[in-house]
Amino acid sequence: PPVDLPIHEAVLGRAAEFGDRPALIDGTDGTTLTYDQVDRFHRRVAAALAEAGVRKGDVLALHSPNTVAFPLAFYAATRAGASVTTVHPLCTPEEFAKQLGDSGARWIVTVSPLLATARRAAELAGGVEEVFVCDSAPGHRSLIDMLASRAPEPRPDIDPVEDVAALPYSSGTTGVPKGVMLTHRQIATNLAQLEPAVPAGPDDRILAVLPFFHIYGLTALMNAPLRKGATVVVLPRFELEAFLAAIQTHRITGLYVAPPIVLALAKHPAVAQYDLSSLRYVISAAAPLDADLAAACAQRLGLPPVGQAYGMTELSPGTHVVPLDAMEEAPPGTVGKLIAGTEMRVVSLDDPGKDLGVGEAGEILIRGPQVMKGYLGRPDATEAMIDRDGWLHTGDVGHVDRDGWLFVVDRVKELIKYKGFQVAPAELEALLLTHPGIADAAVIGAHDDDRNEVPHAFVVRQPTAADLSAGEVMMYVAERVAPYKRVRRVTFIDAVPRAVSGKILRRQLRERT
Ligand code: ATP
Ligand code: MG
Repeated sequence: PPVDLPIHEAVLGRAAEFGDRPALIDGTDGTTLTYDQVDRFHRRVAAALAEAGVRKGDVLALHSPNTVAFPLAFYAATRAGASVTTVHPLCTPEEFAKQLGDSGARWIVTVSPLLATARRAAELAGGVEEVFVCDSAPGHRSLIDMLASRAPEPRPDIDPVEDVAALPYSSGTTGVPKGVMLTHRQIATNLAQLEPAVPAGPDDRILAVLPFFHIYGLTALMNAPLRKGATVVVLPRFELEAFLAAIQTHRITGLYVAPPIVLALAKHPAVAQYDLSSLRYVISAAAPLDADLAAACAQRLGLPPVGQAYGMTELSPGTHVVPLDAMEEAPPGTVGKLIAGTEMRVVSLDDPGKDLGVGEAGEILIRGPQVMKGYLGRPDATEAMIDRDGWLHTGDVGHVDRDGWLFVVDRVKELIKYKGFQVAPAELEALLLTHPGIADAAVIGAHDDDRNEVPHAFVVRQPTAADLSAGEVMMYVAERVAPYKRVRRVTFIDAVPRAVSGKILRRQLRERT
């Protein structure tokens, strides 16, 4: 059943009960907030925000890397009645200004190292009333000052069904980032839907290395563990050695990561120098994960197979996950099983009205209480995404086996159409990575002289394979795939452009052709 609570109530409703237990630990300097502190502090900050003028329906932009203050700012803002639009901490002032303008944000919460960017963005966008900081900066009110506020706790009349709690922007992998309106009910319900598959409790220690600003981090690393009394150890960015040291020092029990981190765990020599024996599971999501890589990672760490989850910003975000107690039996490569209270269809790409059967690949459609309210200010885009019967068209291609395990093939838009056949870049990328001389790879569709779309591979050579040639790469693939899937062009590059979530930025590669 849907959870009709404001998100701060759904997450922190039991905070007082968890009292002195550590809720948040800064993995860099050890600063710790107990549950009791999180509970009291976010209420104080909410009061101060309300006193400063934050009202129900306002949009507040939260512009910060992961810190222990991030959740305080988030829940304080929603408690004051605002919707929070999370902002990539590495964005430029221009990008930030676009998001401010698009979302109509009136308030910014940032951190002092990013203050210049935030102020410039506010200037460019206009309409921002005040810029607050989490830490401290001359001339700006800080969350720390706000803890001393004597203002009364705000009691806005929040409607969990209609009111937007979070306004994350989709990653912009396939187009311009769009503001995704997620209501309190949508986020709170999705947390409850995912919980039975990946149960958490006060003995769990979760490492928040993926960014809270993205819906994956916001859910798996902030909302879900804090709702259950777990401890969240916060890191501002992914740096392998600091990450490994944090697992060892804080006896981390569960990792939620993206494929590039699985790759590092599977292959990097430094991994062997740390005691990672506290880990019980690793879950990967946000981008395609190769099954062999997942197996290599799990084997090296002595863990059950790496489980996957699947979702998207527009789905609050989850629909599929490999349940913790089914990690051994889940078939390699699956992204999981459909969670409770959610419906799925797989429909033909050529004939969208036609439902497909077991093993047949088509577009994944989802219906359920976690489907977004819509894209902010873009009714056409919303209509293109959610049909009249409430089915959200994910734009992802997948198939389901007879036991209900979902496999994601690739995005519809990324499929390369070669002479009537369809080639999934993710499949070729996984194959290329099995070549010992290839460190990383990305594949896009490019046009040949006859205007056919053909697979074009961008390859990063291993340092030890400086003489690897395009011919060898094409031959390696040709020996292992059906003729229509052959790579027909190769460009060597220094690094594959990727988002933090591991998503390949194919538009940047296209610009190079
Ligand atoms: P935009 O919609 O702005 O182009 P985006 O789709 O990359 O950006 P997100 O909402 O962050 O933005 O990502 C959701 C997408 O990530 C899904 O549609 C899917 O393509 C991909 N994805 C998520 N989980 C997995 C997974 N386990 N395996 C493969 N792909 C995944
Ligand atoms: Mg998308």
